[in-house]
Amino acid sequence: MQPEQDQPRRSEVFNWVQRIGPARSLFLALFSLSLLLLGCYTLTERRIIGRRPATDEVQPPEVSVDHMVRVRLLGSKPRAAIELEVTGPFEISSEAPQPIQQELPRLPVCTARVAPSGGINLGGAHYPNDDLLISPMRDASIVVEGKTYRGLLRIHSDSGGLFVTNHVDIESYLRGVLRGELPSRFHDEAFKAQCVAARTYVLYQKRNRSADSTFDVYDSERSQMYIGVLGEDERAVGAVAETRGQICVWRDQGEDKLFCTYYSSTCGGRSQHVNHFKPNDPDVPPLRGNVECKDCYLAKFYRWKPVKLSKTEVTRRIVANYPSIARLGTIVGLRPKELTVDGRIVRIHLDGSTGQNETLVGEDFRLSVGGRVLKSTNFVIEAGPDFFLFRDGRGYGHGVGLCQHGMETKARRGMGYKAILARYYPTSRIKTLYN
Ligand SMILES: [Zn+2]
Repeated sequence: MQPEQDQPRRSEVFNWVQRIGPARSLFLALFSLSLLLLGCYTLTERRIIGRRPATDEVQPPEVSVDHMVRVRLLGSKPRAAIELEVTGPFEISSEAPQPIQQELPRLPVCTARVAPSGGINLGGAHYPNDDLLISPMRDASIVVEGKTYRGLLRIHSDSGGLFVTNHVDIESYLRGVLRGELPSRFHDEAFKAQCVAARTYVLYQKRNRSADSTFDVYDSERSQMYIGVLGEDERAVGAVAETRGQICVWRDQGEDKLFCTYYSSTCGGRSQHVNHFKPNDPDVPPLRGNVECKDCYLAKFYRWKPVKLSKTEVTRRIVANYPSIARLGTIVGLRPKELTVDGRIVRIHLDGSTGQNETLVGEDFRLSVGGRVLKSTNFVIEAGPDFFLFRDGRGYGHGVGLCQHGMETKARRGMGYKAILARYYPTSRIKTLYN
């Protein structure tokens, strides 16, 4: 923001305009208008020039942010049937192929299914359209498979099943995320740090989604855990309100830039570079890792117990995610190909019984075997005749960015949420995007 300038007094301006004459005044006015339009055009975010303030004070323009988040509920696969309820009056609408706009008093618990003849069957009614929007009115809310949500619900039929997406205001969404991500015993400052990270994460996802995507985030660990109204306890509501509109940014060539505020449960001692986890993500200073964290040592999975899996089982799990790896036969050897300074496996080499081999990103290998089985990529591998032993495991999660258990210890020691975020996302700072 530019510092405020002293304004020349009105009489001086008037005298000066009189001296230069009307033609020059018109030229000056047009020139000033051009500068103003150019300035508006070059702003990095879409802005609205609000009404002239009552005082002569120069007000910064209000930033216009799209506040709606589209959250895909119930996973990434189409469902044959979905249990739904709307607790009060609502509107059901659709545009194509047949415009629909109906107001109904409520929707008792019912099942939504793809209609055999096309369209969607819902609560005994048949709608010929493949895409329906349910908009609760007054204090009605939507219940999907027993969970209550604010906002609207889009139901659409695709790939032989149904998908449901909750369209909800960002701040309401965050109230449903915090308790999905953190236990209630966590400190208030930890809740606030988590909230700013989660807000930044969802805004980043919104801005980087492809134009034809029908949703912004999943309601699971694939994005952020979102449990709807169930998560709206005093803790979560307070943290959202106290950090309203705040996001993490980093300064790049004079501009504040959003970044993907990744976070995970327990880093195990040191964070890692984002490209070890997501090789194609932008390499930005806040996500370059190597942040030492001695504060997650109290976490349950700071160190984890050895995991023993048969070679056949490891092969089955990997091939389920990477069918082309079936050509390796059974995976008989696993060798770390690249390690971080603290022992995380960046890439892993797979040797097959057919003599063929393959290299995978360490995180992809871990998540294919099971993110809850191999809790991190920081482990040592031992191979037996027909099994692998994953031992000396450290940490839980990908270890990029914020460490949630480290954050909690720091908060309990008196560190504020802004300092916590600056520590785990080096070079970043907090910016208030909207009030
Ligand atoms: Zn940590």
